[in-house]
Amino acid sequence: MSSPISPPDNALIPVVKALRASQPSLGAAKLNVLLLKEHPEWTVSEKRLKKVLQTEGLTLTTGPAVTNGKSKGPTDANTKYPTSKLNPHLDISAFTEKVDAVFISEQKGKGLVAKAPIGEGELLWREDPFVHAAEWDVYDLQQTGNACQHCALPFVPAIPTLAVACSALNHGCSAMFCSRLCLTRAQQAGHALLCRGRNPPSKDLLDFARKERWRAVLALSQAVARIMTSWERGESEGREMLEAWGTFATLDQDVRAKTLPEWEFAQERHRALWNMAYDHFITALHPPDTDKSAQTRIRKIIKRPLPEDVREALFSYRGFLRGLGRISLNLDSHGGLFLLHSHMNHSCVPNLAVKQPPAGQAQKYPSSRIALVANRAIEPGEELTVTYVNPTWPYRRRKEALKEWGVDCNCERCEKEKHEEPEKAEEEDGGDNDLERELRMSFGV
Ligand SMILES: [Zn+2]
Ligand SMILES: [Zn+2]
Ligand SMILES: [Zn+2]
Repeated sequence: MSSPISPPDNALIPVVKALRASQPSLGAAKLNVLLLKEHPEWTVSEKRLKKVLQTEGLTLTTGPAVTNGKSKGPTDANTKYPTSKLNPHLDISAFTEKVDAVFISEQKGKGLVAKAPIGEGELLWREDPFVHAAEWDVYDLQQTGNACQHCALPFVPAIPTLAVACSALNHGCSAMFCSRLCLTRAQQAGHALLCRGRNPPSKDLLDFARKERWRAVLALSQAVARIMTSWERGESEGREMLEAWGTFATLDQDVRAKTLPEWEFAQERHRALWNMAYDHFITALHPPDTDKSAQTRIRKIIKRPLPEDVREALFSYRGFLRGLGRISLNLDSHGGLFLLHSHMNHSCVPNLAVKQPPAGQAQKYPSSRIALVANRAIEPGEELTVTYVNPTWPYRRRKEALKEWGVDCNCERCEKEKHEEPEKAEEEDGGDNDLERELRMSFGV
């Protein structure tokens, strides 16, 4: 037998990543034993493994977001509820004077409450998304210049007269915008980083998300591009944006995935997909320092270097899985991630409804903008709620689907229906959606 060899970093790192993903709570010494068991032909010191864990952001010290001011410490595979926190920079009065954000409970995290009487049918606020990963049919229109790359307005029957093309039109980007305003907003939100003309490797990242129909990857890339771009405008704006990103309710992707019924036999595939997505994500947005031409390309877009802690939060493998989990938990069914809307907890008898822009009004309201409307009169002090699942589903089906959000609903309707529905109730109404649901649960909307 030949003597063990010291593997190069590019061989070692993917193996360590996969190992860490399968053993999220093991210390370096035990991981090293497993590593050498898997690869008896290698010699890797514990010191070197620790260094890889550190540079790849796979150490155990990065705890989840803080709840109620208390750190929950290292990721715990049994963590049941998402963590969330209030965003001190979010000016709710700019949306509505009738609503306040409060910490509801350890289990529910933050939430919104009414601070004035609200009438049935009242429009409370309209909101544009933090990021918006359009549904695939609209996404395809965006990619061919037939819908606005920023606000997702489809250009039917013809491209509007005020529409403008991306400046990298002749370099491989087909993005079109309804107007200069949408172009400016898209630039502020980091289009250049996901522009096929200005940052060509973003094409592989976006094409991968499209092929896998994995909207969370698309939305996460947009969120990170947005944060990176805000950094360019100044450290305080960058910090504020990063902080806003950190306040969305969070359940790490790997922790969340373990609640899937098929986890036991599907975990290899999940992990392989996470790794593939991560490689595309890093290649496009955070290439290694040693890749000089990639560095030059990114520097042309983002001149201000990101501080180490920000790089760690956004680009370590742990940060990536956390981001994916965060997006999956908060993305609405139309692909929008909203700062204020995302505060709301679930109820099976919600007092607010989310309305999309009315058909035919797309010129007036961007199609990614939502409106929050009261389903009934609401008293001051009442918590505002929306439904996370199809409210026509019977009790057991809702309960099962809500696990995806770490929600164990005890609303009055659940309490009542729990006793009414027969134990073996099979829901016949939505079997056709099982595959879709399974995918959504795996990947996030
Ligand atoms: Zn637009
Ligand atoms: Zn472009
Ligand atoms: Zn309920």
